[in-house]
Amino acid sequence: MRRASSHFLRIGSKPQHPVKAVAVTINYDLNPNFDEIVSPCGGCRQVLVEYEHKFGNNITIYMVGKNERVYVVRSMKQLMPMSFSGDVLADFGKK
Ligand SMILES: [Zn+2]
Repeated sequence: MRRASSHFLRIGSKPQHPVKAVAVTINYDLNPNFDEIVSPCGGCRQVLVEYEHKFGNNITIYMVGKNERVYVVRSMKQLMPMSFSGDVLADFGKK
């Protein structure tokens, strides 16, 4: 079975440098009737939010659709408002 997409989560190593931009798209040739712009899945969103927290920079997300349509967000905060960050737990459990 051919897969229509691959996921950012599958990257094996964590980046040591800030991620500045990510492009998301699918192979529209596999389903010519599909015409929606796709966005990152929930798992990838959480990973990207954590990278923003880790490096303290915004990540631009390019969602590339059919016929060169592109939807751009300049930070994961736009895709995941009120997102979870492990930083919240940093002070818990310490005495
Ligand atoms: Zn994903």
